[in-house]
Amino acid sequence: MSHTPPNAQTDATLDPLDWEAFRALAHRMLDDSLNHTRSLSERPAWTPVPAAVRRAIAEEPLPMEAQGERAVYEQFLEQVLPYTNGARSGRFFGWVQGNGTPLGMMADMLASGMNAHLAGFNDAPRLVELRVIAWVAELMGFPQGSSGLLMSGGSMANYLGLAVARNARAGYDFRKFGALGGPRLMVYASTEAHSWAQKGVEMLGLGQDSLRKVPVDVELRVSVETMRAMIEADRAAGLRPVCVIGTAGTVNSGVTDDLEALADLAAAERLWFHVDGAFGALARLSPALAPLVKGIERADSLALDLHKWIYLPYEVACVLIRDPVAHRDAFALTPSYLRDEGRGAIAGGLVFADLGPELTRSFKALKVWMSFKAQGVDAFAEIIEQNVAQARAFAERIATVPGIEISVPVAMNIAVWRYVPVGFTDEQCDALNQELLLRIQETGLAVPSGSHVHGRYVIRTCITNHRTRWADLVAFADGIPLLARSIEQAMRAA
Ligand SMILES: *Cc1c(COP(=O)(O)O)cnc(C)c1O
Repeated sequence: MSHTPPNAQTDATLDPLDWEAFRALAHRMLDDSLNHTRSLSERPAWTPVPAAVRRAIAEEPLPMEAQGERAVYEQFLEQVLPYTNGARSGRFFGWVQGNGTPLGMMADMLASGMNAHLAGFNDAPRLVELRVIAWVAELMGFPQGSSGLLMSGGSMANYLGLAVARNARAGYDFRKFGALGGPRLMVYASTEAHSWAQKGVEMLGLGQDSLRKVPVDVELRVSVETMRAMIEADRAAGLRPVCVIGTAGTVNSGVTDDLEALADLAAAERLWFHVDGAFGALARLSPALAPLVKGIERADSLALDLHKWIYLPYEVACVLIRDPVAHRDAFALTPSYLRDEGRGAIAGGLVFADLGPELTRSFKALKVWMSFKAQGVDAFAEIIEQNVAQARAFAERIATVPGIEISVPVAMNIAVWRYVPVGFTDEQCDALNQELLLRIQETGLAVPSGSHVHGRYVIRTCITNHRTRWADLVAFADGIPLLARSIEQAMRAA
């Protein structure tokens, strides 16, 4: 502990001691990053982390002493940068992920450089986020004056929509009494809904039993009539239905529930209508695809990702809430240390902090604002259409391979398929396709992912990828038969 008085020569700071040296390194970082992105097509879709790298990172002791920017940057280049899950590659088709964009990366850097605090101060970043939310609302057909908030991801955006639904339709002051204030609150979603719905009711204090998982029809859309019957039975049993959840683009197969029918059901039952449109909502950007998600504009709340089918770097998503009063009522709380002074840096209040659980928030809006303006929303619509056309054409191509079955007709941008050799049981097919998936990934051919549809193991080729060229899909499709047949032969021999 030093007792010397403060002094301009010795005051510590984290700014560079040598700005020119730092500038040179920073320029190198930027060049390397752009070069790496530019050469992605020359690399395998995914490369596993080598054991030595794993150890080097996992076992490093806490660094109390400086190693220097240059040294840690070299380590990053060698040990971190090459070993991602592959999502930036044009041959990544797993789960539902975006690739990031160079402009989005630069915007994130600028936002980080500004270190703007998006609780909602009297500043320009606040205006940018408000504009971005209004643009997204317009794209989704929500009325002017709708509320919304940028969130870190689709899960968070969905939780937020459900939190507002819960408070708005509980029938009592949920903020004051919690779940103890009245009958059990009930929420309805299909068995194909994303796992956020269960986590949501758990986290929002309702409990798992508050989520009714409603069966789907053969096309994997929620059975609206069964949902209606469940709502009525729950009411009769003294429970309180609050929210109907529809999905625009399910994670498994890209299928969209009948959103018009769900909106009608919610209206008739006076329930909140929430739509999870994590990626599917973005189909609305294309006039040709918008009919696929018709009815989305009738939602009371809508969650969508901008880091999936708008391809921006993680993280950014948006939740829209039709009723701005219900939105504020769910979260607004202003202690004296955050009071709006009417003038100065906090004038106008902390608008965003009043609309969600977070106080300090990053300037995620900048990458959306810059990308929409620089590239134009039509460019995104065009690539979304391209992805849908690619998924359809890919399914047609692999359907010609003997033994390959398309498990679900391509509804949007996801082809769901499996290899079914003659004479194999369902269980053998499940095992074969699991192995096939892993070989496709491990050989670096491509990165699709697996799931279950209608109870059987399937491989998903999900295209939310602005780097995918038709040649990538051809290479992937044409690489499948060899891998599939070698597993088949090994299984027959065993
Ligand atoms: C990805 C996804 C989510 C979750 O979004 P995150 O951004 O990963 O949190 C929710 N619902 C659907 C349909 C999704 O595809």
